[in-house]
Amino acid sequence: MQRTLINQTPQLIGKQVKLNGWIDSIRDHGKITFLDLRDRSGIIQAVGQNLPKLNIEDVIEITGLIKARPEKLINPKLKTGSIEIETEKVTIISKSQELPIPINTDGYEIDEIHRNKFRYLDLRRPRMAQNLRLRSQVTQFIRNFLADKDFTEIETPILTKTTPEGARDFIVPSRLQPGNFYALPQSPQQYKQLLMVAGIEKYFQFAKCFRDEDPRADRAYGEFTQLDIEMSFVTQEDILQLTEELFTQLVKKVFPNKKIKQTPWPRLSHKEAIEKYGSDKPDLRKNKNDKNELAFAWITNFPLFTEQKESDFFHGSGKAKFAPSHHMFTAPHPDDVKLLDQDPTKVRGLQHDLALNGLEIGGGSIRIHDPKIQEKVFDLIGFTNKQKQEFEHMLTAFKYGVPPHGGIAPGLDRFLMAILGEPSVREVMAFPTSSSGQTAVLNAPSKPSKAQLKELHLLRNLNSQNT
Ligand code: ASP
Repeated sequence: MQRTLINQTPQLIGKQVKLNGWIDSIRDHGKITFLDLRDRSGIIQAVGQNLPKLNIEDVIEITGLIKARPEKLINPKLKTGSIEIETEKVTIISKSQELPIPINTDGYEIDEIHRNKFRYLDLRRPRMAQNLRLRSQVTQFIRNFLADKDFTEIETPILTKTTPEGARDFIVPSRLQPGNFYALPQSPQQYKQLLMVAGIEKYFQFAKCFRDEDPRADRAYGEFTQLDIEMSFVTQEDILQLTEELFTQLVKKVFPNKKIKQTPWPRLSHKEAIEKYGSDKPDLRKNKNDKNELAFAWITNFPLFTEQKESDFFHGSGKAKFAPSHHMFTAPHPDDVKLLDQDPTKVRGLQHDLALNGLEIGGGSIRIHDPKIQEKVFDLIGFTNKQKQEFEHMLTAFKYGVPPHGGIAPGLDRFLMAILGEPSVREVMAFPTSSSGQTAVLNAPSKPSKAQLKELHLLRNLNSQNT
C-alpha cells in the first residue's frame, strides 16, 4: 500500500490507509490508546487497542481505517479533527529516547546552546518548521518572479578574494599555493558587476555572504543570505520600482494577512531620515504592536563618503579621511562628480537603502563604470598602490565596454525576521551559528589535525612564530 499524507485523510473516510510519521503525543486509557501522529503535512488522532509499547517521537507506520468522529468528539483545533484513524497495525520503525528539549512549545524559553546542539529536534517544533517552509515559499516566489522578468540565476565562487563591504574577512589557507589565502566573499559585489561586463544584463542569486562581525539579533555571526540582484542600463528608479513590485507581490501571495502600510513606499532622503527620525532605518509603523503592519521605506541621497576618525580608518588603509557610505563601487551623483576634487563630503552617492519596520533589510546603488572615477574613489578612501592592485581586475574589465549598471541586495534572513515578527534572524535559519560563533549541531570551529595543518603549510609557520 502507498503511503498517505495526513492532510489527505479527511477526504478518505471509509478507506484503508497507511500513514508514516512521528508520535506527537500518547494518551493511554488502559486497553485503548489514543495517539497523535505527525508528519510534514499535519497531525491525526489514531485510536488503537493492545498497542506495543510506544514512546513520544518514535517513528511508526500505522495501517488502518479512516473514520468520521462522532459529532461530540470533533476537535475544531485540528485540521483532521473531524476524523481519526482506527489502528489495525502499528509498526515501530525507529525508537526515540526521551527528548533533551521540549518541542511542543514555541521554544523561545530554551537556551540557545541546547536549541543549537539539538537543532534537528528544535526544527520539529511547528513554529520552526513553518518558518522554514515560508522561507522556501519566499525563495520560490522570488525565483519565479525574476525568471519571468528575464533574469538569469548565476552562482559565484565562495573561495575567492576579499570583496570588502566594511567587515572583517574570513580567510582560508591554500594548499596548492603555500602562504596564500582565499577570502570568503562578504558579498558577490565584484562578480555581479563583472557579470554585467559579461553582458548578462539581468542577474540574481541567493548568495551566501560571509562577514566576521559581532553577532546581534538582526545579524547572525559569520554568514547570511542575500537576494543579490544586478541590472544593466537601468536608473536608480528602475531598481526601486522592481524591488517594490517584487516585495509587494510577494507579500500578497505568501503573507496575505500582512498589510503594507503605504504604497508607493515612502521615500526619505538620508538627511530627512536622520533629522526626523534619528535613524537611517526609521520604523514608520503606525502601531508598533501590530504584527501585521509592514512599513517599507526607501532611504536615498546618502553622502557618498562618511568622514572617519583616525581610529577607524577604512579597511586598515592609509591615512584616509573618508570611507564609502555604502561600498567603494557606488557611483557619485553625476552632478557632483566635480566635487570629488573640491569637497568630497558634499558628494551625493546613488545609494538606496530599504528599511522595513525599523530594520535595514537591504541596500544597493548605481555603480561606477568609469575606471577614472573608480580610481579617484580608491584614492579618496586612502588605498595604497598595493591595495589598488588588488582591484586592478575591475579597472581592467571596465576597459572593455562596460554597461552602466546597478543593483540591490535585500537580506533574506532579515526580511523574514521582520515579516514574521521574530526576535532574531536565527529563528528563520535552519542551522544558525550561536552568539558565540559556534555552528549548530556540528560544533565548529574545531581544531584541525596536525596533518591538515602541515598540508596547508601552517604548522611550520605556527611553530616558528612560537619560538
Ligand atoms: N553588495 C552590497 C551589499 O552587500 C549590495 C549592493 O550594493 O548591491 O550590501
